[in-house]
Amino acid sequence: MNKYQYLLSSFGKRLKGQPSYCPHCKQPEAQGRSVDTKYTVTRLIECTNCHLLYRTPADSVQEAHAFYQEEYEQGYTTGMPDDATLKQLLSAGFSNTERDYSRYVALMDALKVPRSAKVLDFGCSWGYGTYQFQQAGYAATGFEISQPRCKYAADKLGVDAHHRYEDLGSGYQVFFSSHVLEHVDSIADVWNLARRVLAPGGFFIGYTPNGSEAYRQANFRGFHLSWGLKHPNLLQDRFVEKLADGLPALVSSTPHALDAIAGWDQKSTVRLDTSGWELLLIIRK
Ligand SMILES: [Zn+2]
Repeated sequence: MNKYQYLLSSFGKRLKGQPSYCPHCKQPEAQGRSVDTKYTVTRLIECTNCHLLYRTPADSVQEAHAFYQEEYEQGYTTGMPDDATLKQLLSAGFSNTERDYSRYVALMDALKVPRSAKVLDFGCSWGYGTYQFQQAGYAATGFEISQPRCKYAADKLGVDAHHRYEDLGSGYQVFFSSHVLEHVDSIADVWNLARRVLAPGGFFIGYTPNGSEAYRQANFRGFHLSWGLKHPNLLQDRFVEKLADGLPALVSSTPHALDAIAGWDQKSTVRLDTSGWELLLIIRK
């Protein structure tokens, strides 16, 4: 689907007057708060119950699935490199690329996650992150809904990669996702999966675009660009705090203070600076 088809599809749905709901808690859109608009027909709604920001009109689940299998292309993330490019990336350890996972390893070190820990890289694309977690010493497993990318991860990078929830096992100390939650049709499904496969005391760690009020105020232009066709959900600090539902949580944004994260007692809920472009969320099971 290109931008033009997206607009036509959005406009058609608007004309049909299909009822719309918060994709997370099912609150009717009419009870939500409109926080931004694009191209007249698409709006970003803040759910006043769970505080998810979501695009409306939404995709149907079937549309979303087709989009991910066939149409979603975002350059480096999803474009699987040819053998020569892969060889270069591997020999450089992905350093100086946007897929360098060393900052995530540093975060897990700050959380005192042992390097031998069992880590699930949820939404692993073609496996570059799972591979780097493995290289850092973790027992890493990747999950990727796209079968071609999952197969690439297993065949070309030799990582343990799966495309079905039922093959993932359990007992993970970290359920990690980078720029995945803003794309999924049900964050609740992912959160339920995480709670099922995480060991007690394990961490749900996510990076997403940041819809927090502090970022909206600091950089509205950046905020405006962070939702739309490819990002039906936009998470924010208040949403994460509510999602945690009493579990210890830490919310911040990039760049984040590793010393403050290292100093977190992992028992309370803490909100650090959330005015940066990228939301960091951590919930401890
Ligand atoms: Zn909601």
